[in-house]
Amino acid sequence: MAAAPSLELRPLGSTGLKLSSVGFGASPLGSVFGPVSEEEAIASVREAFRLGINFFDTSPYYGGALSEKMLGKGFKALGVARDQYIVSTKFGRYKEGFDFSAERVTKSIDESLERLQLDYVDILHCHDIEFGSLDQIVNETIPALLKLKEAGKTRFIGITGLPLGIFTYVLDRVPLGSVDVILSYCHYSINDSTLEDLLPYLKSKGVGVISASPLSMGLLTESGPPEWHPAPSELKAACQAASAYCKEKGKNISKLAMQFSLSNKDISTILVGMNSVTQVQQNVAAAAELVTVGKDEKILVEIEKILEPVKNQTWPSGIQQL
Ligand code: NAD
Repeated sequence: MAAAPSLELRPLGSTGLKLSSVGFGASPLGSVFGPVSEEEAIASVREAFRLGINFFDTSPYYGGALSEKMLGKGFKALGVARDQYIVSTKFGRYKEGFDFSAERVTKSIDESLERLQLDYVDILHCHDIEFGSLDQIVNETIPALLKLKEAGKTRFIGITGLPLGIFTYVLDRVPLGSVDVILSYCHYSINDSTLEDLLPYLKSKGVGVISASPLSMGLLTESGPPEWHPAPSELKAACQAASAYCKEKGKNISKLAMQFSLSNKDISTILVGMNSVTQVQQNVAAAAELVTVGKDEKILVEIEKILEPVKNQTWPSGIQQL
């Protein structure tokens, strides 16, 4: 199966990788947003690749490793050469808790590779580092990851988390070029665009930027967020009102949210979580329409107005106060 080159490819920092502007977030394949059958999971991966998505992100944390297993089956079903798709997984966050030690990461990557049925991943991220000691990340975890890079188990190294201050804390303290990528989430969508302020700093360091959760983990969808969503109730209510307003006007809030996030080309890829062929098709269509027609500025202004009272509101995450 050959990938249809319908999506824009964007460079990822200094890595030399070119990622599709829409990336496939595989946390829903771990059934974290509701149950997903193996058949639908595999079909979603195949459809994503067929429509030009070349980047897939997962973690051992998503569904207690179910997401990695499903994605592995999806890759197998693609039946294409390994260099045709780009894979990131993570380590350090598990159903049982957090462990960013050198020993754990060295074991974790082997477990992930087995579940993914791969020999290497393209990016290995430290998952949600605000829940660990950032000094341990700098002094122990990154050096262990550099050894895994040398051993060929990962091509590049990334860090992820919610508070934006964690990225500068680590990047200011590690040798230039040791951390290749950051993955930020819920900070570049219609209701919260605070990642924007960090982009010039990341660019100056040659660090690639992945922005996840353009739908704010379900806040910007017609069906609303899952039960476990950590947003304060005021933010949830405002997003619900925005979604209802869009629907009333015959518009789709998720399409608008995708197009908003995709508009900033300093962000290499927008990772959206998908668990059905239909969602894959809708999100790729939103990207294609952005290129050909542009986004609906009129409704966007109206939605931004509804969300203004909660603009850039977030929630606490982790043990670090940054
Ligand atoms: P998201 O904002 O992408 O929202 C996902 C939800 O929206 C799911 O319920 C999905 O089924 C639904 N959805 C997707 N497309 C839709 C459409 N067109 N219409 C209606 N609903 C739609 O949130 P997310 O899944 O949490 O984030 C995306 C990915 O980014 C994750 O799967 C994961 O790979 C990554 N991520 C990483 C971190 C981290 O490293 N700490 C945190 C969050 C997300």
